[in-house]
Amino acid sequence: KPGENPQICPKLMEAHLKATDGKVITRFPPEPNGYLHIGHAKAINVNFGYAKTHGGVCNLRYDDTNPTAEEQEYVDSILEAVRWLGFEPHQILYSSDYFQQLYELAIKLIERGLAYVCHCTGDEIREQRGGDDNRGERFACPHRDRPASESLAEFQKMKEGRYAANTATLRMKMDLEDGNPQMWDLVAYRVIYASHHRTGTQWCIYPTYDFTHCLCDSFENITHSLCTREFFLSRQSYYWLCDAAEVYKPVQWEYGRLNVTNTVLSKRKLLKLRDEGVISTLDDPRLYTLPALRRRGVPPSAINAFVRELGVTTADTTIDVNRLENHIRDSLNEIAPRIMAAVHPIKVVLENLPEDHIELIELPYKPRDDSFGVHQVPFTRTLYIDRSDFREIDSPDYYRLAPNKTVGLQGAAHPITCTAVRKAPDGSISELVCRYENTGSHPKPKTFIQWVADCPSLGSPVRLDEVRIYNPLFTHSNPQDKSVVPGGWLSDVNRDSLEIVKGAVAEVGLWDSIKRYAATETGKKELDEHNVEGLRFQFMRIGYFTLDKDTALSAAAISEDRVGDVRFIVNRIVTLKEDSKK
Ligand code: ATP
Ligand code: MG
Ligand code: MG
Repeated sequence: KPGENPQICPKLMEAHLKATDGKVITRFPPEPNGYLHIGHAKAINVNFGYAKTHGGVCNLRYDDTNPTAEEQEYVDSILEAVRWLGFEPHQILYSSDYFQQLYELAIKLIERGLAYVCHCTGDEIREQRGGDDNRGERFACPHRDRPASESLAEFQKMKEGRYAANTATLRMKMDLEDGNPQMWDLVAYRVIYASHHRTGTQWCIYPTYDFTHCLCDSFENITHSLCTREFFLSRQSYYWLCDAAEVYKPVQWEYGRLNVTNTVLSKRKLLKLRDEGVISTLDDPRLYTLPALRRRGVPPSAINAFVRELGVTTADTTIDVNRLENHIRDSLNEIAPRIMAAVHPIKVVLENLPEDHIELIELPYKPRDDSFGVHQVPFTRTLYIDRSDFREIDSPDYYRLAPNKTVGLQGAAHPITCTAVRKAPDGSISELVCRYENTGSHPKPKTFIQWVADCPSLGSPVRLDEVRIYNPLFTHSNPQDKSVVPGGWLSDVNRDSLEIVKGAVAEVGLWDSIKRYAATETGKKELDEHNVEGLRFQFMRIGYFTLDKDTALSAAAISEDRVGDVRFIVNRIVTLKEDSKK
């Protein structure tokens, strides 16, 4: 009886070993019905990683058997995401490549008395299988024992389009006595009238996941079919079908799904968020799809380090998103040049400097790391500092700028002291009057703040049209937990998850490092593709940032040094420290 004999058929094994030369072959099998997400990054690392560790190879197989949900856009984005993470599939294959082979095996099954055409409705099948919870009484459907010849004729009619959708299925004749619901006559084929992204209208019968997956693994000589835990019960039906079809049988192993806190990952939920207008695209940087993480500026190395650190657990896990962010910080700390910026600028006038004072100060792009090089920033009478570095009401534990208080300016020779606060008619601060302490002696300040010169003739400041600050999209760590979120996950959306700040300024090092990057091989290539993801910065004491793809940055603007033409849209990737919210 199929599935019962654990022994491997020696003939099939011999053919398999001949095809693989004893090498490990795995596959990453996404359905092209959405973007990949952080959970898939684990699946990718598991499959490619396992093969690599054992000197084998890993295929990308699109599991495209449901034409109503699948689209070419997703096919393209999946391959792009796999490559972005640094993996190159040995082969790129599609379940739909095997539609003919699968169909032939279906016929073989019918001929062997192991499949039958059934005309029960979905509700009737559910009832036969003991109801929704599979706990009721089970019974065979009236079509189960029809002769093979009849099923063959009926299956032919299904294929010819002579049955309406939902009026006929092919079911596997498994084992209703078995305790495993996956053995209760699963559906192998259904009638679907929809155009497939690769086979068009050639077929109107489509194989199910249960029928397709193991057989495609077998056709490709997959040695280890690695899948997530929800397929644990499917292992038995997987083996049953390989045996029933008399094909080589791979080994299935399960590992736990990875989720992160304060988000949802399932494709259906992401589409719901879009339909509800919470987000407008599936690469919105607040999401944890791989295109979203990429757009946000997350380096792929950080994602790989995160999933590798977690290891191949067998339990499903929901990991605190802070752990991912810590990996992102570690990666960015290594690669991001340091730039001075003021996200909420206030003007500072150094009253004792002449109007036309321009001094050039040399700053390292990364202190204590010469490999990043240095750049020159102008220092002038009018500067901008960040609003958060000034307080009108001083306190002894506050070390930044306040009335009559002295603070250091990063890279400048002398500190400044605030001598007056000028206000606009509405009571807001319009400028701080300060004294540049360039005479006499001053103790070394406790704190150095960042500043940006107002020096249009030298291109300072670089004006940032938008700084986009991303906060968690959901308020609770597990929005899907009904006991904490009784209103359901959608009610848990954080309405303040996106903050758009206009009017931020940065020093000339931002533009200078963009120009330097554009002159590198990678930079040139990325700019040609209208992609600037390699540009990531630390705005000192604020956070890590990148240019969003909405930034209109052309190679011409760079080569002609037209910084004023660029509409800078900047994403905050992460804060500098775990607990700093903004
Ligand atoms: P979703 O419904 O969340 O998009 P899925 O399982 O339907 O997930 P597939 O495209 O079928 O998505 O997944 C491709 C592979 O990635 C499968 O082997 C699947 O088991 C694995 N995978 C999917 N989600 C996760 C996850 N959260 N953690 C680990 N592996 C996952
Ligand atoms: Mg799936
Ligand atoms: Mg799914």
